[in-house]
Amino acid sequence: MPQPVQYRGMSLIVPDNDTEWKEFYAHARAHRLVVRKCAPCGLLRYPPTHACPWCMALGWNWQEVSGRGTIYSYEIVHHAIQPGFRELTPYAVVLVELDEQRGQPTPDESLRIIANLLRPDLTPEGPAEVAIGKRVRVIFQDLADHMALPQFTLTDEPPQGRVWRLP
Ligand SMILES: [Zn+2]
Repeated sequence: MPQPVQYRGMSLIVPDNDTEWKEFYAHARAHRLVVRKCAPCGLLRYPPTHACPWCMALGWNWQEVSGRGTIYSYEIVHHAIQPGFRELTPYAVVLVELDEQRGQPTPDESLRIIANLLRPDLTPEGPAEVAIGKRVRVIFQDLADHMALPQFTLTDEPPQGRVWRLP
């Protein structure tokens, strides 16, 4: 059995036979953001599912991506379900559309990753700073020798498209 990783009072366990997430987190620990690339159709996907969601093919390779993208949507968590997150509230959860596959294969389905929006020192970004359209880059929150969480932080690049935030 793999050693559980303690994170904010929770025990995180990725079983040894869960190669999809085990390898994803190991790449993250080496500070590489990877997604799966379908061998036949070439589209990138996240989460790292077994079959391609667009062409159903089973062949794939890991593909490193830049980790740069735009906030596609977000929410502000005011009431944390997990007690370990209570002291962080209110904090942002962002859905980031990565640059590698923006608007592909359709404007409604592209390469998007969900994570927390943090400052470079890994503390939560202020909710007033979060907006749809703002630019972000990946940062890595190391949890153990074999696991890190990809998170995102704001960059000073100009926003992409319409900027919108919760009123
Ligand atoms: Zn495919």
